[in-house]
Amino acid sequence: MPSPLEKIIIEQIEAEGPMSVGAFMAMALGHPEHGYYMKQDPFGRAGDFVTAPEVSQMFGEMIGVWAADIWMQMGAPARFVFLECGPGRGTLMADMMRATKNVAGFHDAAEIHLLEMSPVLKAKQEEALSGFDVVWHESMMRVPYDAPVIVIGNEFLDALPFHQMIKTDEGEVERMVSVHEGKLVFVPARGDITEVSREREGFVSNVCARIKAQSGAALFIDYGHKKSGVGDTFQAIKGHEYVDVLSHVGDADLTSHVDFEALKRGVDIDVHGAVTQGTFLTALGIAARAMVLAQKAEGQQMETLEKGLHRLVDSGEMGGLFKVIGFTHHDKPLKPHGF
Ligand code: SAH
Repeated sequence: MPSPLEKIIIEQIEAEGPMSVGAFMAMALGHPEHGYYMKQDPFGRAGDFVTAPEVSQMFGEMIGVWAADIWMQMGAPARFVFLECGPGRGTLMADMMRATKNVAGFHDAAEIHLLEMSPVLKAKQEEALSGFDVVWHESMMRVPYDAPVIVIGNEFLDALPFHQMIKTDEGEVERMVSVHEGKLVFVPARGDITEVSREREGFVSNVCARIKAQSGAALFIDYGHKKSGVGDTFQAIKGHEYVDVLSHVGDADLTSHVDFEALKRGVDIDVHGAVTQGTFLTALGIAARAMVLAQKAEGQQMETLEKGLHRLVDSGEMGGLFKVIGFTHHDKPLKPHGF
């Protein structure tokens, strides 16, 4: 049975012709009614996948300390825009704020802004951050222009559309999603694939332009590779399993690896990394934080803590698969921790 969104996409392709992988992804994730992020909360054990802030509170605590440190390096401005892109359940921002509550002046200075397109997740974020003043935006254009910015995004860039180019006998063409016998298929079907994402690179260069004009820093963490490569990394996850990318339209999360080398292209402010998430969190002192928490942990909590730490930093786990990249600009060079 095709999903309601699959039917809509099939009808659109039949009327207007094949659509790019990027257009397909944007619809599958962001269709106002049936899009994957628009209609449900995909996180957690019962959901489709688990993200680092949901694995352990230590992730958000480390990033919170990172943000407070860079704020101090910036001379502790009395007001700054603390922007999180794609905050999911709001867990990361809540943990960052909890970890920084004793940093003198930081909470008074931080104006929390969240970039979020999903009404379902916005409601979750409202709950998680109920003690704070929060401003939501659906577009970067609405984010204030009159203060320094500190921007955080975990697993945000991979949710932005990307495109696939495929080598054929007639040269390189864009790989499209088409319809064959009532089913979604790729055309051309076979060939060497390279991936590009104007959307991700454009987003990062927009953030960097803001940092250049307003001063500040950004940190993006995502599943991906340090160097541009060749190959098909388009993937769909449903119920913690990989599924076919063209099936379960609107009911599976769609992502591809983030090309961190490509994100650096055309950026004319200071770039830090990319380094692995394990290197980053270890340099920030996550092991010491785990020891402090371990002293208060009882029974099951101890096991959860150890498992969480292992998952976040181990090179065979998120610690190696995820990469971290930083961008900074200020009237004096900034030295963000972790790189
Ligand atoms: N950072 C969270 C969630 C990652 S999932 C975590 O680590 O748990 C991706 C998040 O980005 C979701 O909140 C999703 O709704 C949001 N998102 C995806 N595409 C978006 C877009 N184009 N504009 C704004 N938010 C978007």
